[in-house]
Amino acid sequence: MYLIPSFCPRCGQPLGEAMVDGKERHVCSACNFVYYLNPRVAAVTAVAGDSRLLLVKRGINPAKGRWSFPGGFVDLGETVEEAARREAMEETGLKVDLSGILGVYSHRETDVVVVAFAATSSGDPIPGKETMEVRWADREELPPLAFRHDPDILHLWQQWVDGRGTLFPSREGS
Ligand SMILES: [Zn+2]
Repeated sequence: MYLIPSFCPRCGQPLGEAMVDGKERHVCSACNFVYYLNPRVAAVTAVAGDSRLLLVKRGINPAKGRWSFPGGFVDLGETVEEAARREAMEETGLKVDLSGILGVYSHRETDVVVVAFAATSSGDPIPGKETMEVRWADREELPPLAFRHDPDILHLWQQWVDGRGTLFPSREGS
């Protein structure tokens, strides 16, 4: 599902549709501004502590009440890595050290691109205000996870924790 804009962000007039570069785009009827629809980027982090996995029970939709990795959307003005560390801190109260990228996930019918990181941390997590519960989960008794890419991220994380996986480097700009 995409959120389709109705009005021009530049002049406030209604957006129409027109062919631009061979694709139907949302174009302002008054000033010809082209409203390109681009995906949003989310950073999620699979955090290891003594080979246990840090999981959050989500307090907001989507998937409210279900378990997943800490994560959220990247704000303009921050790197994907900063977003990953910030979201983990907001949702679990823990400082995480990013180790590398596990994978990148996107689907044609959603407007979100997920960058999944592996990280390490320790300490007692404290749920943030958008989090119902947070805990270190033993690998043998993990709950079902909320999102469709979660099992793949989990699989890659387990391989990494076992010393068999490959992480891809991330390079933070200033
Ligand atoms: Zn306009």
